[in-house]
Amino acid sequence: MTGFVFSEKPIRIARGAGPHLYDESGARYLDFGASYAVTPTGHCHPDVVSAATDQLERLLYVQGSYPVDVRDELYDRLADCAPGDLDYAWLCNSGTEANEAALKFARHATGRSKVVATTGSFHGRTMGSLAATWKGKYKAGFEPLAGDFEFVEYGDAAAMADAVDDDTAAVVLEPVQGEGGVNPAPDGYLRAVREACDEHGAAMVLDEIQTGLGRTGTTWACEARDVVPDVLTTAKGLASGLPVGATLCREWIATDAGNHGSTFSGGPVVCAAAVATLDVIEGEDLAGNAAATGDYLAGELDAAVGDAVRDIRGEGLMLGVEVKRGANRLLPRLAMDHHVLALPAGRTVLRLLPPLIVEREHCDAVVDAIAEVVG
Ligand SMILES: *Cc1c(COP(=O)(O)O)cnc(C)c1O
Repeated sequence: MTGFVFSEKPIRIARGAGPHLYDESGARYLDFGASYAVTPTGHCHPDVVSAATDQLERLLYVQGSYPVDVRDELYDRLADCAPGDLDYAWLCNSGTEANEAALKFARHATGRSKVVATTGSFHGRTMGSLAATWKGKYKAGFEPLAGDFEFVEYGDAAAMADAVDDDTAAVVLEPVQGEGGVNPAPDGYLRAVREACDEHGAAMVLDEIQTGLGRTGTTWACEARDVVPDVLTTAKGLASGLPVGATLCREWIATDAGNHGSTFSGGPVVCAAAVATLDVIEGEDLAGNAAATGDYLAGELDAAVGDAVRDIRGEGLMLGVEVKRGANRLLPRLAMDHHVLALPAGRTVLRLLPPLIVEREHCDAVVDAIAEVVG
C-alpha cells in the first residue's frame, strides 16, 4: 500500500520531546511549525501523556450520549476559558468539522442559508468549510460545494457591512489569517463585523483553530480586540496532538442547532488529553509566554533580517516573515542545514508557529538560521 495526497518530507521522525523532534539517527530538530500549531504544550508533555494513558486504561471509548466525567470536565473547562457567554460546546475530531458544525448550527438557528467569508481565508477541506475557503487551488475539481457563499475583502469593514443582509446566516473569518499569509485583522475590523452581524441577526463565527489557545498572546485572539462572536471554533492544539475540535456557541445558537452528531465526538481519551492541555496552558501561562517570547522573537528577527525581508508580522507566537523569493525554497534549507522546521503561508511567507513553551534560546537559534537562509 502506498499513501497518497501528502508529499513526504525527507526526514523520518522517530520521537519528540518539548520543542524538539528527533529522526531515526537521533538528530534533533527545533520544531517551529509544531505541525501547524498542534503541539502548544510541546511534544509529549508528561501531564498530557499521563492523562491520556490513565484514561486509555480506564475507559477508551463510549459514545457521546453516555455522560462521562472527563467529558463534563472538558465542557466546564471550555466554558470557563471561552470568551463572553459562549457556554455551550459541541465536540468533534478536527478543525474542518468544527467549522462544518458552526455553519450548520448558524443556518439552523437563523433559518437562512447565505454565508459571508473573506478573501485569503482557510477554514478546512470538507464541503462546507471548503466553500468558505478562498483559494481556488483547494477547491479545483471538487465543485459544487455548499452553495450561497459570498466573499468580501479581508479587513474591509465597509465591504462587510454591504455584504451582510437579512438573508445572511453567518459571517465566518479568522482574527489573524494563517494560511492566507499571517494577516492580523486591522484595528476595529472585528468590531465592525460584530456590528454588521448584530444589525441583521447573523451569526458571527470566528475560526480560532490556529489563533486560539494562547498562541497570539491571549487565550483567544478576539479577546485582545474586545469582541465576542456567536460561535468560536477551535481544534489543532486543543489536545496537544490527539484529534479533537470544538464549536463553542452562545445559547441562541445552541438551543436551536438542529440534528447533528458524530460517532467519535467527545471520546474520553481525547477529552482527558484536552483537559490536561488546558491545564498546562493555564498553569504554565503559555499565553503570557507567547506574548513575551513572541515579542522577543519578532524583535530579534527584525534586527537580524529586517532589510533582507519584505515584512515581519503577526501576534505572539504566530509570526509570518514575508521573504523576497519563494518561501518553499528556504524551508528545506532551514530544515536540512539548520535543523529548524518551519512552515509556508502561501508562496512568499515563512510561517512560525512554535510550541508555546519555547524560550529565548530557541528563538536565538531560529533567528540565526533564518538570517543565514535569507541573507
Ligand atoms: C487548520 C485549520 C483548519 C482546518 O483544520 P483541520 O483539523 O485540518 O480540518 C481550519 N481553519 C483554520 C484557521 C486552520 O488553521
